[in-house]
Amino acid sequence: MNSNNKVACPLDCYDACQGQMIDENIKGSKENLVTNGKLCVNFANLLKVENLQTAFYENKEISLDESLNIFVEKLKSTTPSKTLFYKGSGNIGVMQNSTKNFFTQYGSNLTRGSLCDGGGNAGVEEGRGVVINPPIQKLLDADVVVVWGRNLSVTSSHMYNLIKDKTFVTIDPIKTQIAKESKIHMQINPKTDYELALLLTRFAYMQDLEDRDFIDEFGNGADWFFDISKNRPVVSYEATTGIPLAQVNEFFDLIENKSVAILVGLGVQKYFEGAQIMRCIDSFAAFMGYHKKDAGGVWYLSNSATGYENQFEVKGANKKVSIPKVDFASYDLVFIQGSNPVVSAPNTKRVIEGLKNSFVVYFGTTYNETCEYANLIIPSTPFLGKKDVRLSYGHEFKSISNIVKEKSQNSISEYDMTNFLLEQFGFKKLKDEDEIISYYENHKPKLEDFETFNFIEEVDVEPLYKEKTNENFYFITAKNKNSLNSQFANDDFVYLNSKTDFKNDDVVTISSKYGNAQFIVKIDDDIKEDCAFFYSGNKKVNYLTPSEEDESSFSVMYQEVLVEIELS
Ligand code: SF4
Repeated sequence: MNSNNKVACPLDCYDACQGQMIDENIKGSKENLVTNGKLCVNFANLLKVENLQTAFYENKEISLDESLNIFVEKLKSTTPSKTLFYKGSGNIGVMQNSTKNFFTQYGSNLTRGSLCDGGGNAGVEEGRGVVINPPIQKLLDADVVVVWGRNLSVTSSHMYNLIKDKTFVTIDPIKTQIAKESKIHMQINPKTDYELALLLTRFAYMQDLEDRDFIDEFGNGADWFFDISKNRPVVSYEATTGIPLAQVNEFFDLIENKSVAILVGLGVQKYFEGAQIMRCIDSFAAFMGYHKKDAGGVWYLSNSATGYENQFEVKGANKKVSIPKVDFASYDLVFIQGSNPVVSAPNTKRVIEGLKNSFVVYFGTTYNETCEYANLIIPSTPFLGKKDVRLSYGHEFKSISNIVKEKSQNSISEYDMTNFLLEQFGFKKLKDEDEIISYYENHKPKLEDFETFNFIEEVDVEPLYKEKTNENFYFITAKNKNSLNSQFANDDFVYLNSKTDFKNDDVVTISSKYGNAQFIVKIDDDIKEDCAFFYSGNKKVNYLTPSEEDESSFSVMYQEVLVEIELS
């Protein structure tokens, strides 16, 4: 591959694909094991999006220079502690993190926690001390793949392609495509994954399947963990998880003497106790000795920056606000980069009220719903016109982006914007751009596996089924194959099972204790009868979700809610 024509897909996706520009067309790289010569529909959609061509101030077109001058004046006349730096994941290349360097020195409030994987990460870290995935080769060498709360063929289509001939087990409330292709689909009740992990542990013990060698060498607290699993009758798990014990037996018949890979997705941890739930699953895997084997293991979203030195880091005593709880109204100036909180953050009503009551600066490549509330819009250079590196949270390969298309004079990259602001405020400029890129490109992190596995010894999870009645529904969201989050195709429907009281095209009002909104019904029997399903990026779905943080990672817990549905 010509090293100057590389293009990294910047989208927030496990696969982190590498492309290359050939004769004005971008093709998937064959040299990248995961990309394997193909790019997906989301990448094609990304190439078609209309990028911002000009800056705006109070809805009037202005030049880039004017927008930057207005921004600097506004920053100079605002008290830094009354400003907020809010960055999203519209583009997750490492160079996007450069802006935080300026806002840290300037004294803005920063965010902490995640709109995505925070709870699960905390759970993995509490057990293993590090959040890294095993090498992908161990996935390729596994006999059975357990897909747990992960829409694998949609959210990691390339990783799926590499393993599509394996034997699959899927654990998911939704009959996803991968569930349909699986030998076993455990259609679990939402927020009972920790109970299933305990039930599986109990069965493993009863059948002498635990890995004593692993437990003796690396385990800490395995007996306590096993005790939790046996402190209630086995049949009681059947009632709460919705998984028949016969299916559990079938599962153990299938995995006996096999190497097992467990791919855990975001679905299991979108709750208050998301970390505990993830840790129960990881502890079950440790009980079985799936960690540290030549084949198999447990994959979640690794911290892709582990082992790298942050090239933009600067010390600051900035206040941090947890991202689900951000109240935009409490800041005089809000800087939003590569994000669309009007659609993707919880409690949309509160988000909009907040944005209306602050001076909002939006910095991104496309016009989105949040731009409607922005006072100043600064176009950032689309990914083909700037240098970057993509690290992956799904596997160990990285992708490189060179400049393959001339950038518009009316846009600015994150790196250039940061240096511009640093200069305006008399702060030290960033290291040379090529030096930073070269560091990420060439550095090979030494990733140490854990030495001790700390089993979860106490589980305190408040199940949603306690509040579940015949009148309310579990609330489930997942990614759409045509649109990762809020970026491309819109699907604003609610999907319900045909056994509910609703039919196609009914207009319904859906309410939770946090808000309500109207939706049009689509009937789909892949959805469990007691669930209301929405695609991420649905413009109204977050009117229903809580702007509260989980118990351990300052992160959002979108599914910690039950909803009621009535005809409008
Ligand atoms: S699979 Fe993911 S990383 Fe690969 S091209 Fe599609 S969106 Fe980009």
